[in-house]
Amino acid sequence: MGTAKMKHTNQQAVVIDGKAVAKKLRDSIKRHVQVLVEDHKIMPGLAVVLVGDDPASAIYVANKEKAAKEVGMRGIVHRMPQNTSQDELLKLVHALNADGKVHGVLIQMPLPKQIDSATVLKALDPAKDVDGLHIENMGRLMSDMPGLVPCTPMGCIILLKTITQNLSGLHAVVVGRSQLVGKPVAQLLLRENCTVTTCHSRTPNIAHIAREADILIVATGKPHLAKADWIKPGAIVLDVGINRMDDGKLAGDVDFDAVAKVAGYITPVPGGVGPMTIACLLGNTVAAACRQNELTVPHIG
Ligand code: NAD
Repeated sequence: MGTAKMKHTNQQAVVIDGKAVAKKLRDSIKRHVQVLVEDHKIMPGLAVVLVGDDPASAIYVANKEKAAKEVGMRGIVHRMPQNTSQDELLKLVHALNADGKVHGVLIQMPLPKQIDSATVLKALDPAKDVDGLHIENMGRLMSDMPGLVPCTPMGCIILLKTITQNLSGLHAVVVGRSQLVGKPVAQLLLRENCTVTTCHSRTPNIAHIAREADILIVATGKPHLAKADWIKPGAIVLDVGINRMDDGKLAGDVDFDAVAKVAGYITPVPGGVGPMTIACLLGNTVAAACRQNELTVPHIG
């Protein structure tokens, strides 16, 4: 295994600069958008649907719209009130499915409680499901077929490949088994020929399992859960967690200062995995626009 050899274990971990990697990715996406616009007269369109008035969701949606526009795409936000019915939302989803100017649709979660998110996701055209959460795209991921892959897991793989292109044979431990992060990232790691162990809230003695990991990915929403004694010296640690603390600051799921003394590489929060998510969303929108127009999907990342 390579990671332990990549760094002397008595050094501080190398901090993976997710912001810089994401910027490079967005620059590359911008060039692909330019080609689509100039050579094919296609302007990729990303529609983001926000239902309700959750302040965090409102910020995420505004950031996605801004990022889409910055790479030259059409970014359209549909804002609907908190008391929107499921039928009203489904009507909008059907309209976006039919709109030729819209290549990607993202429905910002969580949805208000009167709406069943699984029903809404199922109504989305899988070809426009740039979040990769439709069951068809999930099935394609499981079956190693081309499809739209969830953005944060895709971002994790791109970050890992900035450290080593060949992940084959490495032991990856994923902590968390959500549809959004844990399960798809485990699947993508398998695709890279890693040996993958998934842990979750019912796994006893996670520290013991995590210490076997060449790659440790933590996505639990539990601030500072992963401690120094979880880490194999030299391991690559990706912290997916974003937790708003009482003092207003953001914290990850990894105890950064302690873990950085043992790990070889580590992502910070903020500035690690987070910026990759929006960049990958834009990448998925380009891929969707290409597929919908029977063009070759460029390699992004
Ligand atoms: P989730 O709540 O859907 O899933 C959490 C998972 O963690 C569950 O599978 C659960 O079994 C596991 N878990 C909970 N407590 C645990 C414990 N004590 N030990 C081991 N496992 C435990 O959350 P999610 O949507 O996967 O998100 C996880 C975190 O990642 C959150 O902080 C979220 O804000 C963040 N997130 C960040 C990005 C990004 O762009 N960086 C994207 C999505 C989610």
